[in-house]
Formats: sequence, C-alpha cells, structure tokens
Amino acid sequence: MTSSVTADGNLFILAAPSGAGKSSLIRELLNKHHDGSMQVSVSCTTRAPRPGEKDGVHYHFLTKAQFEARIEQNEFYEWAQVFDNYYGTSRTVIEETLKQGVDVFLDIDWQGANQVREAYPQVQSIFIMPPSLTVLEQRLRNRGQDSEEVIAKRMAKARAEISHYHDFDYLIMNDDFDASLQTLEHIVLARRQRMPLQQMRHAQTLKDLLANGQ
Ligand code: 5GP
Repeated sequence: MTSSVTADGNLFILAAPSGAGKSSLIRELLNKHHDGSMQVSVSCTTRAPRPGEKDGVHYHFLTKAQFEARIEQNEFYEWAQVFDNYYGTSRTVIEETLKQGVDVFLDIDWQGANQVREAYPQVQSIFIMPPSLTVLEQRLRNRGQDSEEVIAKRMAKARAEISHYHDFDYLIMNDDFDASLQTLEHIVLARRQRMPLQQMRHAQTLKDLLANGQ
C-alpha cells in the first residue's frame, strides 16, 4: 500500500472522545452502504468485554501477553495504550481489505491516528466532536455501563482527546445525528471520486472520450 495510483480502497480514521457518537455514526453509515464497499476495522484490545460485546465483532479480546507478543512480531499497523489497556489495529487485515478496493474505517484514538498518518499519508482523518462536555458526560452516564471512577477517567481522557482535534482533516460537530451522518457520508463519497482512482476505474471511457472521434 505505497502508491496512491492504485484502485485500493480509501482509508479513514474516525476519532472522538468516547460518548461523542462515533460508533453510532459508523454503524449507521455501514447500514446505509451494505454493498461491501466499506468496512470498519475490528481492533484488538486487552480490556474486558462490556455487556453485549462479542469477540471478533466489537473487538478481538486478547490477554496482555498475547497482545505484547503481537507487538513483538510487528503485527500491528498501529497500537496504543488507552486507559490501562492496549488497543491495536491488525496490519494484514487493513492491507488486504484496502487491496480489495474496500474502504476501511479505523475507530482509533489520536495516538494511533498519528502512527497511521506516518505510515500512510493519504489517510483521511475525521474528528467527531460532541457539542459540549455536559452532553458528553450525560451520554457516558446514559450508557449505564461504567462506574463513577471510570466515568471520571473517561471525561479526563475525553478532554485529552479533544485537544488533538486540529491534527485531523475534517471536523464534524455532532449536535444533530442525521446531519452528522450526512456530512460523514459526503466526505467518504467525495474521496471515492479522487482523480487517480477515477482514471483507473474509467480508463476505457476516458480513452474513448479523448479519441477525437476516430
Ligand atoms: P472503548 O474502550 O470505549 O471501546 O475505546 C476506548 C478508546 O480506544 C476509544 O477512543 C477508541 O477509539 C480507542 N481505540 C479502539 N480501538 C483502537 C485501536 O485499535 N487503536 C487505537 N490507537 N485506539 C483504539
């Protein structure tokens, strides 16, 4: 995945403080485009599954030793420590999926985003912002999944995540879910029309159009 003049899928990073609505936006976007043209990357993590989370669907749940072995073997495209746990993106899955022409979304934090920008400069990064810290805290509480201590930690992490917003290519202010979904979709669809990709996809048509009536 070195050349930008290939029919590779597009790589997108979606980052946000937890509670900003990022997961719901990705889920809805994928529901809307269920033609196999886009996929969200399933990360590996050492954190415990939350109620309802399934191994291989929400995350690949690994032990600390398993995760560290994968770091050693350079199996991660990017990885980071978030809270007290490791999170990482499998290198081969991303590379193979992009090669198949499928767009891939990485739901990762700012530390992972920095690593991906280094490795793959053409990545498009999108930051989803909650309309306020009060709304963010309310959303974390409404999940009813975390203790007070965890919520306090998540709010501190949210502030840290927000402070990196300016490193991203796009900013979506998520105060209206439907409008944000539409904006996200526009960004993705616009990216698909970029020139090198279009030249490859429509090579014959472009040749015919330029043939000067011969
Ligand atoms: P949660 O535990 O709430 O699912 O995720 C906590 C944070 O870890 C979120 O900001 C999420 O974006 C981030 N995260 C999830 N998967 C990855 C990953 O593979 N790499 C990195 N760097 N961050 C991740």
